Amino acid sequence: MTDIVDSQTRSRMMARIRGKDTKPELFLRRSLHALGFRYRLHVRGISGKPDMVLPKYRAVIFVHGCFWHRHPDCRYASTPSTRPEFWASKFAANVSRDNAVRSTLLLDGWRVAKIWECAMRSKAGAAAAVGVVSEWLHGTDQELDLGETYFNHFEEQAEAAKLADR
Ligand SMILES: [Zn+2]
Repeated sequence: MTDIVDSQTRSRMMARIRGKDTKPELFLRRSLHALGFRYRLHVRGISGKPDMVLPKYRAVIFVHGCFWHRHPDCRYASTPSTRPEFWASKFAANVSRDNAVRSTLLLDGWRVAKIWECAMRSKAGAAAAVGVVSEWLHGTDQELDLGETYFNHFEEQAEAAKLADR
């Protein structure tokens, strides 16, 4: 059978399937680069082959799709209604692999950031996420877990402060 797409198109399709170079990741990458951060991509030999590795900051960044990586309490981490056992075992495997990777990285002295795609769905969200990641990189926190509800927390705090001021 002949291939109906050229090799370039095919590799682009495969990249999308593998989840590499997805849009939120590209945006984050470009923005961090513009801020002066330098990184390496998908480094083999580092547990979990993180999307970005920033040796200077001893930091790795994963951009996680909420569905495949099962973002807790996220509206995008739905479960398909067909073949529930199949999905349950697939998801369980993904989650346990992610946990193992995270533990290994932390033990190896890496700082680990997980950026969930839901945090970057809107332009404003994506821009805010870049700010948070940049601050985290310059800071000393071991971990960052950034999803779309990350900012709600601060909004609630700001609201509470406003109320207390009255
Ligand atoms: Zn999410």
